[in-house]
Amino acid sequence: MVDFSLTDEERAVRETVRTFITREVMPLEQEVLRRERAHRPGLERSELRELQLRAKKFGFWGLATPEEYGGMDLAAVMQSLIWTELGRSFVPFRFGGEADNILFHATGEQKREFLLPTIDGERISCFAITEPGAGSDAANIRLRARRDGDDWVLDGEKTFITGGNDADFAIVVAITDPDKGARNGGATAFLVDRAMGWRSEFIQTMGEGGPAALVFDGVRVPHRNILGELGQGFALGMEWIGKGRYTIPSHAIGIAERALQMAIDQANTRETFGAKIGTNQAIQWMIADSEVELEAARWLVLRSAWTVDQGLDPRHASSIGKLYGAGMVNRVVDRVLQIHGGMGYTRELPIERWYRQVRLYRIFEGTDEMQRLIISRDLLRGYTKIGGHLA
Ligand SMILES: Cc1cc2nc3c(=O)[nH]c(=O)nc-3n(C[C@H](O)[C@H](O)[C@H](O)COP(=O)(O)OP(=O)(O)OC[C@H]3O[C@@H](n4cnc5c(N)ncnc54)[C@H](O)[C@@H]3O)c2cc1C
Repeated sequence: MVDFSLTDEERAVRETVRTFITREVMPLEQEVLRRERAHRPGLERSELRELQLRAKKFGFWGLATPEEYGGMDLAAVMQSLIWTELGRSFVPFRFGGEADNILFHATGEQKREFLLPTIDGERISCFAITEPGAGSDAANIRLRARRDGDDWVLDGEKTFITGGNDADFAIVVAITDPDKGARNGGATAFLVDRAMGWRSEFIQTMGEGGPAALVFDGVRVPHRNILGELGQGFALGMEWIGKGRYTIPSHAIGIAERALQMAIDQANTRETFGAKIGTNQAIQWMIADSEVELEAARWLVLRSAWTVDQGLDPRHASSIGKLYGAGMVNRVVDRVLQIHGGMGYTRELPIERWYRQVRLYRIFEGTDEMQRLIISRDLLRGYTKIGGHLA
């Protein structure tokens, strides 16, 4: 049976999130724009935390966090729907009670030191695999960890690390056995406190906020700070990236929905040559093309989340959803900006902000080209059939 409807529970949860975002988050939008125009963060850390605690009272805390840690442990489809609602506001808000998915591989002691305070929002983590010489080709990382007694000594550099300038600790993938290579058990993930001696340097980007470069110069890390198994670092890295493959395009759908509605409102009110601009076929086609692509992205992304919930291998479907969703939101925001004319280009409206923000979606957590590589490789090797799980 093919059924494209949401369950009553999915509908109810989505409605509650929508109410929270509308009542508590959207009213902050003008202030966020004002602050960002003054090159300040849209939300201070304390303000984000306060909002997250308010959301907790609403029932939203730890979307992906298991119940034993106080989270909601929601199915991927439900999480996807929620990320779409979050995308509807550009306020840099996300629900609290979360931790990087791979932190749940921590040992009991590590859980107390790293996982639980991260869930509580007392500590901030960042995940670091990318290096100046290894991004798409992540297996080519060079940051070296050498064993020295009960410690490992880390030397090298990571770059473009989200939250790297604010993080209290980093999850760092380092080479522990160069002969084996990263893919074959030569890389290991370490939990590295900032107090152990790494430095961060903020990187200016075209987006608001920004990632950081992390510098490791003889940083000593105790053996007990290995996350997971020795040699498991690359697999953990891929597990971390896997999560974003459906949350990023889910967020993109929310952005596109909100932006497209702005374009429709503009088309119905703005007049040129004595008529609403929406009476022009040129404008109508931009709206129609945006709606078609938005709808296509919605089903591709929900299907990729659904494959996660079904316990199927989600990689092929997730690459399709990430590639299409990221491209879709770039095309939609570009058209929405065009429909707003000069006003679309100003910083009075959030459209140019989205335009800058969503450009990243085609780059991080696997570029467009890497998604195409995965999709075509799966087909060329016969790992996936045309038609996906219905084939
Ligand atoms: C704002 C931001 C936040 C980020 N956050 C994190 C983070 O938290 N943690 C982390 O570890 N990393 C993070 N990254 C890094 C991100 O994942 C990488 O930038 C991305 O994987 C691309 O790597 P690269 O920049 O080295 O580009 P490159 O790998 O050098 O690629 C350059 C271009 O060549 C293309 N290309 C490369 N190889 C091929 C090929 N075989 N075939 C066809 N085309 C190819 C790419 O698609 C791209 O267009 C972040 C990046 C940014 C910009």
